[in-house]
Amino acid sequence: MKSLRLFFAVVASFALVAGASFAADAKAEPQKPGCCMKAEKAGKKCEKKCCVEAAKEGKVCEKCLKKQQEKKEKKEEKK
Ligand SMILES: [Zn+2]
Ligand SMILES: [Zn+2]
Repeated sequence: MKSLRLFFAVVASFALVAGASFAADAKAEPQKPGCCMKAEKAGKKCEKKCCVEAAKEGKVCEKCLKKQQEKKEKKEEKK
């Protein structure tokens, strides 16, 4: 019985860790372009026209996000 209890304890803690790391992963990759993230960190809102327009609609600027992703892809290609 003791080993069974230990097994459940291990499984439970493992699930906790997995869940925590999953949440951390979601945090590590925010769906926001760098310009908006920078502004947010500074306690401001992104002043780019395209981003302001997107924010009005409660969205994230897809223009900047796309640009950022393209940059990322290029970087990966260079590897
Ligand atoms: Zn922005
Ligand atoms: Zn933008």
